Amino acid sequence: MNKELLEMYEKLGIEPKTAEFGENIASELKERFAKIDEVAEYNQMKVLMALQKNQVSEACLHGTTGYGYNDLGREKLEAVYADIFHTEDALVRPQITCGTHALALALMSNLRPGQELLSPVGKPYDTLEEVIGIRPSKGSLAEYGISYAQVDLLPDGGFDWDGIRAAINEKTHLVTIQRSKGYQTRHTLSVTEIGELVSFIKSVKPDVICMVDNCYGEFVETIEPTDVGADMVVGSLIKNPGGGLAPIGGYIAGKKECVENAAYRLTSPGLGKEVGASLGILGTFFQGLFLSPTVTASALKTAIFAANIYEKLGFSVLPNSTESRHDIIQAITFGKAEAVEGFCRGIQAAAPVDSYVTPIPWDMPGYDAPVIMAAGNFVSGSSIELSADGPIKPPYAVYFQGGLTWPHGKLGILKSLQSLVDIGVVVW
Ligand SMILES: *Cc1c(COP(=O)(O)O)cnc(C)c1O
Repeated sequence: MNKELLEMYEKLGIEPKTAEFGENIASELKERFAKIDEVAEYNQMKVLMALQKNQVSEACLHGTTGYGYNDLGREKLEAVYADIFHTEDALVRPQITCGTHALALALMSNLRPGQELLSPVGKPYDTLEEVIGIRPSKGSLAEYGISYAQVDLLPDGGFDWDGIRAAINEKTHLVTIQRSKGYQTRHTLSVTEIGELVSFIKSVKPDVICMVDNCYGEFVETIEPTDVGADMVVGSLIKNPGGGLAPIGGYIAGKKECVENAAYRLTSPGLGKEVGASLGILGTFFQGLFLSPTVTASALKTAIFAANIYEKLGFSVLPNSTESRHDIIQAITFGKAEAVEGFCRGIQAAAPVDSYVTPIPWDMPGYDAPVIMAAGNFVSGSSIELSADGPIKPPYAVYFQGGLTWPHGKLGILKSLQSLVDIGVVVW
């Protein structure tokens, strides 16, 4: 590493030994990073072509107030999303408050009392337990008489084909497939695997709706779940597709009927997609989407860098240092609470905003154990920005994601490592 840079890192609290260790790892990753850049290049063109095809104009960046009738920008943005995901329609709104809301909306609007929801990939993301009613909650699907069935993945991570076939019955109306691992230590599904699962489900029951929780997966590959048969993809704009610029929002892209159902539920029967003022927010949605392929690439590089660093130091990392990637999340199992907290302090100290504060574990709505979160973000809670979180419960794993730029992501990981050196968890 050149002297100038080494001095800069020292000013940021990173000892030369830590910086050199990181540099050696980074130099081994050049080929892999080149592949990530290729995917980003492809996706950049996919996004650009969708913007151009829909003739997005300067007027689209402004938006409406009040009812928001005839909001040209909103309509074009939704058409752009539909083109990118190769779907009939899309709903992309600042009124969708977060990823959980987008998923709840897709589920509640496409399921009716007496029908059943099936997860063939094990337990869904923590916050969905209350949406579904796995943990009793006001307003859950269970309260509306919608039942839930679950088939776990096999111990080797594969699909339990027999179990899934047996679980599909006359009530099964919607199947939810979570692409990313979330707070679990299973592997993330590739788009190809999701395609195999969807084909199988449709072969058992052709009219079942296959929905994919696409959180953290967008633009990691050149294809998306809707390219391999999924009826609906759902995600958050303060993750990948917002490119770090969208300050709020969620999306649902899919079959016309699925999206329509969601729109009538989001606003009102009779109104659907026709209302919903975009206020002044659309510029960030368009520009964030435009940046998303390269921002996602930066986050991926950061995650791979972290995996290689911590695997080399003897910690268990998921995905491991060499396996292929299908989302931007990196899990690192430390086995003790103080290491999770130390890692998060390092990430926080690298932040552009609030770098001086110390993150501590707290009880968050929707989660069943105290969670520590490190995030010094421009957009509060945004996890496409450099961020880490970990529930304070065994196996004491930290889930790390984001990095709007690769140099910043790299710094964050070096700060986390230095923090662990400082508290004696890592001993050279
Ligand atoms: C983040 C996430 C959610 C929920 O999104 P929020 O915006 O935090 O509500 C759901 N599923 C998965 C897999 C996620 O990563």
